[in-house]
This record gives sequence, structure tokens and C-alpha cells, in this order.
Amino acid sequence: MFELKLDPKSAKEPIISKIAIEKNVLINIVKASIGPREGEMIIEVNDEKADEIFETFKRYGVKIVKLERVLVRDDEKCVHCGACVSICPTEVFRFNEEKKIDVDITKCLHCGVCVEVCPFGALSLK
Ligand code: SF4
Ligand code: SF4
Repeated sequence: MFELKLDPKSAKEPIISKIAIEKNVLINIVKASIGPREGEMIIEVNDEKADEIFETFKRYGVKIVKLERVLVRDDEKCVHCGACVSICPTEVFRFNEEKKIDVDITKCLHCGVCVEVCPFGALSLK
């Protein structure tokens, strides 16, 4: 699994489709959050193609990080209580200006502490 960070240029492009067609590979989008100027995605590809796809995204100028296990938040369960903010050792969670919790998954060490602490069962490691 990979996490992608899209900048204003790549967020406007159909980058996933482009690479899927160019490399003839299926790309499964596990999670996506795309705005007009930036975006984040978690994708899954066949292990055999993983290295090639990793290099191709880099060639397109997309920041890409390989994830061994992925922290997933169920946005329907999260009530933005903030219990995960102080418990996380690497500051993955922070309140944004709207008093909602943002997640920076690139900092996650997969320790699982937040999964245990969340009172609403909104977090899981997959
Ligand atoms: S502890 Fe759970 S419900 Fe509270 S902000 Fe974190 S993920 Fe959301
Ligand atoms: S698994 Fe550990 S490092 Fe990752 S977000 Fe939860 S508490 Fe932070």
C-alpha cells in the first residue's frame, strides 16, 4: 500500500487513470481526500508491480510513501473528540481551524495506541 500526496498540479490531473493505463495495472483506491489545491490518497497495487508503480508516481512528481500497515479512520464514527490527539507519540492527529481532527498518516508508526483509546471505535490498523 502507498500513500500519495498530491500538489496543486497533480491534484487536477487524472493521475491514477494515467498510470493505470500506462502501466496496465489495476490501482485500488483505499481512501481519498482530494481538494482543488491538494489531496491525499491511499492506494493498493499488486505486489509484483509495486516497485514499478512507486517509481512511476515519483517520475510524475507525486510524493509517495510505502505503508506497511495503514491506519484507517471511519469518518462516520469519528466525533472529533480529540482523545487520539494527546495519546499519539508522533502527532499524527491535530485539530484544524474548524475544530475537526486532521490526520497526517505519514507520521504514523503503527503502534496501535490510538486504536485502543478511541472511545468510538473509529480507528483501525489494516
Ligand atoms: S479518538 Fe476517535 S472519535 Fe475521537 S477524534 Fe480520535 S478518531 Fe475521532
Ligand atoms: S498507530 Fe500509533 S503512531 Fe499511528 S496514529 Fe495511532 S497512536 Fe499515532
